[in-house]
Amino acid sequence: MDFADKTVLITGAAGGIGRATALAFAAQGAKVAVTDIALDGATETADQIAKAGGTALAFQADVTDSAQVEAMVKRTVETFGGLDIGFNNAGIEGSPFVRIADYDDDMYERVMDINVKGVWLCMKHQIRHFMSVGGGVIVNTASVAGLTGGTNGAPYFASKHAVVGLTRAVALEYAKRNIRINAVCPAVIGTRMFEDTVAARPDARAKIVAMHPVGRLGTVEEVAAAVLFLASDGASFMTGHAMPVDGGLMA
Ligand code: NAD
Repeated sequence: MDFADKTVLITGAAGGIGRATALAFAAQGAKVAVTDIALDGATETADQIAKAGGTALAFQADVTDSAQVEAMVKRTVETFGGLDIGFNNAGIEGSPFVRIADYDDDMYERVMDINVKGVWLCMKHQIRHFMSVGGGVIVNTASVAGLTGGTNGAPYFASKHAVVGLTRAVALEYAKRNIRINAVCPAVIGTRMFEDTVAARPDARAKIVAMHPVGRLGTVEEVAAAVLFLASDGASFMTGHAMPVDGGLMA
């Protein structure tokens, strides 16, 4: 996949899936706007890209703030002369994973704000730019938690179902405008998110690994590979799709 002459904007790129995807796009020639609420981590991602010979700019943006999201898109376009691909990946798990009766109301609001409103705002401002230049591509990070239910952490499941819903609905709105929108739906990937979750429940580690038919967790590089495919011309007939990257879990 060749992304030379393409500019990619990535949210939640301070580590984990976002960083791996930023590195993968840059390795294929893309110029990458590396954004996160955590500037240190975003800067480290951009430094890694630069060391590998790629082109990246790191800056801070909170995806829950419409003005910051608008400014993030504007700065990307001004810096690199355009924007072709948005990877809307920022998200939180909303731990501790407890049942609804014990779940904190403020945490519910945070999960919905970052995971749902964040994706909504990113798509809105990216699409405004895409409409002005004749098209573009969006990939949103949902989850297998957007395709099926599960016990504990219901707001996370609800938020990722909403990401899938936004992906499908907005893909239909712009299907004839040369704008493709898909979602990637990872199962459990060995990132900070997983380590934090099992830190509180060490007994859960083996059970979580075992629920994947392939018998292991996914890697950030495997998610990045799926994102690059969805963003590439190879996926030119795909829009409104929520694609599992899940070691067979959804099967
Ligand atoms: P991560 O915590 O490393 O990445 C999430 C990033 O989002 C962090 O860098 C964080 O600083 C950033 N972020 C949080 N709030 C933000 C805000 N308001 N504005 C901008 N950035 C913000 O974890 P990850 O596993 O790489 O997760 C990336 C995405 O993948 C998330 O949407 C997550 O829900 C999803 N996901 C993860 C897994 C998994 O098992 N790790 C599985 C399925 C889906």
